[in-house]
Amino acid sequence: SRYLKDQDAEIFELIEEEEQRQEYNIELIASENFTSKAVMEAMGTALTNKYAEGYPNKRYYGGCHVVDKIETLAIERMKELFQAEHANVQPHSGSQANMAVYMAVLEPGDKILGMDLSHGGHLTHGSPVNFSGKLYEFVSYGVDQNDERIDYDALRELALREKPKMIVAGASAYPRAIDFERIEKIAREVEAYFMVDMAHIAGLIATGHHMSPVPYADFVTTTTHKTLRGPRGGAILCKEKYAKAVDKSVFPGMQGGPLEHVIAAKAVCFKEAMGADFKAYMSQVLKNTQTLAESLTAKGYRLVSGGTDNHLVLVDLNNKDITGKDAEKLLDSIGITTNKNTIPFETRSPFVTSGLRMGCAAVTTRGFKEAEIRQMVEYMDYAIMHREEDLSSIKEKVADLCKKHPLY
Ligand code: PLP
Repeated sequence: SRYLKDQDAEIFELIEEEEQRQEYNIELIASENFTSKAVMEAMGTALTNKYAEGYPNKRYYGGCHVVDKIETLAIERMKELFQAEHANVQPHSGSQANMAVYMAVLEPGDKILGMDLSHGGHLTHGSPVNFSGKLYEFVSYGVDQNDERIDYDALRELALREKPKMIVAGASAYPRAIDFERIEKIAREVEAYFMVDMAHIAGLIATGHHMSPVPYADFVTTTTHKTLRGPRGGAILCKEKYAKAVDKSVFPGMQGGPLEHVIAAKAVCFKEAMGADFKAYMSQVLKNTQTLAESLTAKGYRLVSGGTDNHLVLVDLNNKDITGKDAEKLLDSIGITTNKNTIPFETRSPFVTSGLRMGCAAVTTRGFKEAEIRQMVEYMDYAIMHREEDLSSIKEKVADLCKKHPLY
């Protein structure tokens, strides 16, 4: 960092400012985490200089014998971690991973079933403002209005009626376990491809805390930076029979040169995720999220679906007389970072929303346990219930909690 400081003080100082923000705020965004120093170190290396279009031992550039070994390690480790037949570690992001799978086996205009955005789905699962909704004919399924869990019977009926070419499962804001085995049966019945986007729950799956989609799905896509705690990026797993189509779709279909510095960091992340420490970390994430759910419920907050099975909760703020947008802003002002989120059967716009999404992956990495989660809920609830008052003492308490658990 001494080079950066001398050469570009503006950027150096802004990076320091962001480091301070991360250090002294409580991070509850469910899709974020704090990587290890090792993962970060791998990203900031000379590997960023190398062009390596193609795949290990089949490159379009010379000088790839070293990055070939790195990418091969990443591939082999990912296959071992998830017990998969084939892995592609080149997608630059989760969105790219999804695009590559669609492009591998579908034609523009084909019909796909995906989870409704306001019920927890992701932009790339058919939002009209996203490439997915523009290129393909997406039909949405969602949760049951009563229990707010995926309505598998309705999904089956929809599949029988619509005869999609593909069914996509996976979500960004769904607090419950997903029954991949059940959705596979539906996909087979209508002869559709089955893709699972496990981006949010990849860490839970890697450690056996959630049913793995790998035995059931034709394709599994993920990001590496959420519960998996790796670098910002994407990856794809598939059955061997789709390996060629997937690889061709990523390169040359959709991307040029792979980011070998990020791929090295992915390899480090996969190795970490195979260890006992990571498994213990992930069970603490689940304990903390249960504690978060219980503490919020005890204070009168309504959780979508009544609770959680994974690393996140979705709070319906309607009975607290505050919108998601205002709650996000209020909590930001005391140093707690969350995001406003639509809830199933939302009545407000996606800019305002009635919900707040919170996850425990990041705070657990910095060492928060049940006691800290309870304390944090006290602060959040105080702020929401006393939103007109001066909250500076609460902001200090939030910072104190962070100081007791330094990030690195
Ligand atoms: N899929 C799901 C389920 C996600 O939640 C996300 C990110 O929020 C993505 C895909 C997209 O990942 P990226 O932001 O890396 O494109």
